[in-house]
Amino acid sequence: MSRLRQFLKTTTGKLALSYLAIIMLMSLGFSVVFYNTSYRALGRQLPPPNMFEPRNRGELMEPNQTVDDFFRDRINEARQELLMRLVGLNILILVGGSAISYYLARRTLKPIEDNMEAQSQFISDASHELRTPLAVLRTLNEVALRKKKVSSAEAREVFEHNIEEVAKLRQLTDSLLHLAKNDKNTVTFSSLDIADIVSDALNTIIPIAQEKHITVEDSVPKLMVQGSKASLTQLLVIILDNAVKYSPENGVVYVTASKDNKSVSINIKDEGPGIKAVHLPHIFERFYRAETSRNKNQVDGFGIGLALAKKIAEQHNGEIVASSTLGKGSTFTLRLPLS
Ligand code: ADP
Repeated sequence: MSRLRQFLKTTTGKLALSYLAIIMLMSLGFSVVFYNTSYRALGRQLPPPNMFEPRNRGELMEPNQTVDDFFRDRINEARQELLMRLVGLNILILVGGSAISYYLARRTLKPIEDNMEAQSQFISDASHELRTPLAVLRTLNEVALRKKKVSSAEAREVFEHNIEEVAKLRQLTDSLLHLAKNDKNTVTFSSLDIADIVSDALNTIIPIAQEKHITVEDSVPKLMVQGSKASLTQLLVIILDNAVKYSPENGVVYVTASKDNKSVSINIKDEGPGIKAVHLPHIFERFYRAETSRNKNQVDGFGIGLALAKKIAEQHNGEIVASSTLGKGSTFTLRLPLS
């Protein structure tokens, strides 16, 4: 009993109870109306025509019973039977209705619970990620403060480190905001040329690539798609930035595009370390960073870029997939519906 009371205090219990109350209200309301209607109809019941024939009378009626009493008794019996059946039916509905209500309550709450679970996971992951750069900032400043004398060159170095860490934090919070926003309906689409988007993204990436002596070779024809220029450029910057980030010095990154009768594909291929098959299905998950000796400790990142890229691709009714050969490189392909 106390278990039932506890269950009724849960959200599922409360919702199931509300559903059951609706079912029972309808069932009882229907029963009352049905009973009243039948009650009146029974009162108007006509005696069968052969009722008064003396041979039938003896079999059906008590010797001292009047015809009037006989009918009243029969009608009362019928009413009682009707009442019992309706009570039985309502008990059945109560039992069946409880099971249905529980099932419906679980069905209603499951997606809401999943959503809430994902949200709290997101908040806890995000807080965890924010902690590292904040801790670095704090340590840097504490170490500097502990020194009795700080030369202006040292102070400058600390400031520069601070600015660097703040920039990383800014980048992380910007990405988190993008990822958290559900802007599916607020993104405005227009007709776009893939070649223009690639060229915009390359303008951002080429200075970074040049620092590592990486060449970017692009051969992208004019292909039209529907989409948001800012979002698609952001997506390509994420993929190109990774390609450069994970490529060795003097590597080459190739950008190509093609179309078939349904979609436009943009391929970004690098000569980096590749991604292990066990990691490949997870790299688009938030905060996932494949643990290879090369990147986890040496390459900056929060494991959020590809999750954002995936979200943007989905907002455009497209998809992004990755293939990779360990030691040889990776290829990321963005597919968008042809406009
Ligand atoms: P990060 O900030 O760590 O780069 P991403 O979400 O952009 O986060 O990528 C997730 C993980 O996928 C990376 O940590 C890395 O292990 C792997 N990855 C992404 N792009 C490449 C690439 N071009 N070559 C090798 N590994 C990659």
